[in-house]
Amino acid sequence: CGIVGYIGNEEAAPVLIKGLTKLEYRGYDSAGVAILGKNGLLIRKSKGMLKNLEEKIGSEIQSGALASTMGIGHTRWATHGEPSDINSHPHTDVAGKIAVVHNGIIENYAKLKAWLEAHGVKFRSQTDTEVIAHLIDFHFNGDLLQAVIEALKRLEGSYALGIICESDPDRIIAVRKESPLVIGAGKGENLIASDVPAILEHTRDVYYLGDREIAVLYRDHVDFFNEEGQSIRKETSHVTWDA
Ligand code: GLU
Repeated sequence: CGIVGYIGNEEAAPVLIKGLTKLEYRGYDSAGVAILGKNGLLIRKSKGMLKNLEEKIGSEIQSGALASTMGIGHTRWATHGEPSDINSHPHTDVAGKIAVVHNGIIENYAKLKAWLEAHGVKFRSQTDTEVIAHLIDFHFNGDLLQAVIEALKRLEGSYALGIICESDPDRIIAVRKESPLVIGAGKGENLIASDVPAILEHTRDVYYLGDREIAVLYRDHVDFFNEEGQSIRKETSHVTWDA
């Protein structure tokens, strides 16, 4: 299973697919991407091999329908809910404005799901992950970072997350707890990935995200916060080996 994210100047969809290819060794049963461009937030996902997803979106990439320079991608290893198109990530809030990719397991998802359903939220999938998108939406008040910080307070379990939001379109938020995630610091572009090989084509300068640390990626810089939202400083490491 794997996560990638890209914000920069290149066309995002092919960058995401290529990054996911480099993570195939981790194993997966489905794949998907969310991209954010002038047509808003678009989700494309498919059960099975990455090539199924590539076939699904190939003509849209050709026609420019997926034109965008930022997005997130996922390969799933199902833990909650069978492998299917609907259970594939990214997952969104009800309105389809917030997209989330997740590796890991939300241990208290059943309780959170019942609570959200009692607040009128209609779930689409059988995954534990979907509660995260709805929780962020529940706390969303115009600032995606604040909403993520509030949502994290309610989550138990393990997670690496990539999050984007249509009304906060110039950043990707990433966070991890007991699941791997690295940040690639490029020139005019920044990336997230479960593992270094997925970003080496873009940069060798990497931030290793610590447990419960939050990264906010813009095109030209990355900010880091602890889970309380206090700013923290991190240094890059230079990768000298080849994948
Ligand atoms: N628990 C999530 C799911 O089943 C994420 C699985 C993964 O790490 O790919 O959808």
